[in-house]
Amino acid sequence: MLTPQQARQRLRRVSSLTINEASNLDSLLTDLLSEGCHFLCVDQITVWLINDIDSAEYLHCVASSCEIDVQTIPNLDIAQHPDYFERMFKGETIMANHQLQSTHNDQSDNVANTILDTVIFHNGKAQGVISCKTKSPHWWSNEDIVYAESLADSCSRRLMALETLKLQNKLSELVFVDALTGLKNRRYFNERVQSAKNSQYRMQTPLSLIMIDLDHFKHINDEFGHKAGDIVLSQFARTCQNQLRLEDCLCRYGGEEFIIILPYTGEQQASQLAERLRVTIENMVIQHEQRIIKLTASFGVAEMALEHSIEDTIKKADVAVYKAKNVGRNCVITL
Ligand code: GH3
Ligand code: MG
Ligand code: MG
Repeated sequence: MLTPQQARQRLRRVSSLTINEASNLDSLLTDLLSEGCHFLCVDQITVWLINDIDSAEYLHCVASSCEIDVQTIPNLDIAQHPDYFERMFKGETIMANHQLQSTHNDQSDNVANTILDTVIFHNGKAQGVISCKTKSPHWWSNEDIVYAESLADSCSRRLMALETLKLQNKLSELVFVDALTGLKNRRYFNERVQSAKNSQYRMQTPLSLIMIDLDHFKHINDEFGHKAGDIVLSQFARTCQNQLRLEDCLCRYGGEEFIIILPYTGEQQASQLAERLRVTIENMVIQHEQRIIKLTASFGVAEMALEHSIEDTIKKADVAVYKAKNVGRNCVITL
């Protein structure tokens, strides 16, 4: 049997564990809830969240210490339990020791039970409750109450940690995405080309790059406006992307420059793909404000031999583009 102090220390330790982006809150909170059941000797602990913290209509169950599908547990409506919600909004710990036919019960559960509900806060507001329940009448000691409140705080911290983690994951994705075209950006390219190079080494397979620079793009901006230029860039990106395999990676390298990483692809196949893309772009028709914009691009192809560095291969593809520009643009040069 744990002393209350030992139980709180265990809880503090468990709640300090780092979290992964859990697929549901049930799995995010499960270790905390089983810790709680262990100390409080209750039959079940459930976690309930308000549908919308600024406009509460109901509480819904998101996690349970028991192996049940929490989605099957009916919601608790504010209209039917105004007093309960009022106390929750005040942040009160709610104890009841009588027949509770309608709060927190699943349909089969109309037996006398005892609850101890403590509020989960978020930014100083009630976000939900954790509800500890026993089927037989139970007297809650002060230590039980203090513990249950700590448990609710631990849940609150977990939920906030999850929010932060989700935000972080979203941000780190955005770091690698070009906002205009939705393609991966140059930063992503630098990482991806290194991993392509590594697997080329391991598997001894060919690897090629195609560098693309849109022709006379400044003219497009000058003639149709910068917004039209943006639309052209997006449509170019979409059109090229549709022609590629899943393992190929098209990135926006700079303003109107793009680069494709082609794993398992030798020089000849890469040149053929570049030529296909060139023709597709040449035939692309972009409509903007009742006008038609036409576009061409210059392509530089370079295979990355095993002994060649990434930098040298990028330089080679760049020189190939430069040559394509010099021989009149709208063509593919392979070096
Ligand atoms: P070249 O055929 O020699 O490549 O000529 P170019 O006009 O394409 O090349 P230049 O480098 O002179 O001009 C590139 C232009 O691309 C200038 C720049 O304003 C435009 N550009 C770069 N990024 C964007 C963008 O995000 N949106 C728009 N609308 N234009 C962009
Ligand atoms: Mg350029
Ligand atoms: Mg250009």
